[in-house]
Amino acid sequence: MTSTAEPTTVGVIGAGIVGLSVALELQRSGFHVTIVDRDDPMSGCSSGNAGYLSEANIFPPAAPDMLMQLPRLLLADDGPLVIKPAYAPRMVSWGRHALVAVKEASRRSITDTLANMTVHAYATIADLAEHAGGSSLISRDGGLVAFKSVQALERKCESLPIWRRYGIKVTRLSGIEIQVLEPALAPGIAGGLFFENSGRCSNPRRLGLLYADHLQRNGARFVRDSVRAVNPDATGGAVVHGSSGDLHFSKVVVCAGFWSGKLLEPYTRRVPIVSERGYHLMLPNPGLGLKRPVVFGEPHFAATPMEEGLRLAGTAEFAAPESPPNFQRAKMLLRLAQEYLGPLNGEGAVPWMGVRPSLPDGLPAIGKVEGHTAIHYAFGHAHNGLTLSAITAKCVSAQVKGEAAPIDVSGLGLMRFERGFSRLKQQGAIAAPPN
Ligand SMILES: Cc1cc2nc3c(=O)[nH]c(=O)nc-3n(C[C@H](O)[C@H](O)[C@H](O)COP(=O)(O)OP(=O)(O)OC[C@H]3O[C@@H](n4cnc5c(N)ncnc54)[C@H](O)[C@@H]3O)c2cc1C
Repeated sequence: MTSTAEPTTVGVIGAGIVGLSVALELQRSGFHVTIVDRDDPMSGCSSGNAGYLSEANIFPPAAPDMLMQLPRLLLADDGPLVIKPAYAPRMVSWGRHALVAVKEASRRSITDTLANMTVHAYATIADLAEHAGGSSLISRDGGLVAFKSVQALERKCESLPIWRRYGIKVTRLSGIEIQVLEPALAPGIAGGLFFENSGRCSNPRRLGLLYADHLQRNGARFVRDSVRAVNPDATGGAVVHGSSGDLHFSKVVVCAGFWSGKLLEPYTRRVPIVSERGYHLMLPNPGLGLKRPVVFGEPHFAATPMEEGLRLAGTAEFAAPESPPNFQRAKMLLRLAQEYLGPLNGEGAVPWMGVRPSLPDGLPAIGKVEGHTAIHYAFGHAHNGLTLSAITAKCVSAQVKGEAAPIDVSGLGLMRFERGFSRLKQQGAIAAPPN
């Protein structure tokens, strides 16, 4: 522990895929990096995701029809999207901001930003994985979305021109064509979409652990501690207050997933982040093989071939992160997957739950605290944290160095939520939010 910070020391809070990627990129740039986490690296949401490096996810999460359904979702317990009644008050602020995000102009600018990040995602993650010796875990054989009904497929196809506008290669497939690509799909699929340049990671946890290993072997320090607060210090740096003492750095990057909101609250209006829990069911011997991630459109969840078997993953459960998991939500994925894949062997299946850090516009928060240039942040990647981890790291590393980021992330700061509110309040659309 030091009392004054060396000019090139950076503390990264959080050893999930975002924090480890940021730490690795900073180490590559010559910084002395310390990673602080209350847990082992890759113990949180990043350990069990679907491993899909998707080019499809460029739209904000909330659509007008979904917001209309929110009251009904409060009551359902087994749907693909549920809100636990006890968590509903925490959703109020998220919902108000989501109302801003569904407006046409906002949707367009959110889609622009997400697409801009997404088209750089694969190249940057492949580069970082190679740097850490993890290239064999990354591949690019495309990704599929499969639909049971023509109506759902038609609805999805309305977005084809938007994806193509950003140079994302996507093809509409008939039921027969999709089965040629993935013979394991059961007959009767109406058709789907093929995203040619999407990729996958066959073991997201192992990839993150390779990053951690590489960091440590090259001099990074891992500190196991629960961070209570981050403050600017008297020397122009920042101090991390942990349960076992203080750590001083020239810069700090908060990458604590869902819990980042709490750490940044002293510097901004309450961050409208929510805990969107997702589940997976790992099938060690599924009895069939997929060649690439397949997203099933009705309801929305994914199956990805992994080193350890077939991973069925998805569902959205807005609930307190610490409340007991409902593993029935993971187990129901087996039944739903059989509607697309036919009989699957569920023997030895292992359920898992993770807390997605979700912001109401579907964009991550990347930036630095207003007026305190030593405190940076990168969190809130929701459904795209693995995909966007390396491009996020490149942007943060540039910001820490005081250089221009490789893509325009000027709109990703937390101030965007203040601005959204001011605009709506001026229009009289919402009452003042609780602080
Ligand atoms: C079912 C499911 C499927 C998914 N599938 C995909 C997918 O296919 N592709 C994709 O790109 N994304 C996917 N995601 C999303 C992705 O997993 C997340 O966006 C990503 O893991 C978030 O990473 P993170 O590093 O921000 O958070 P985390 O992995 O949660 O890491 C945060 C870390 O911060 C630490 N921490 C928090 N607070 C403190 C504190 N006060 N002091 C010290 N340490 C602290 C935690 O212990 C944790 O280790 C999926 C998510 C789920 C749940």
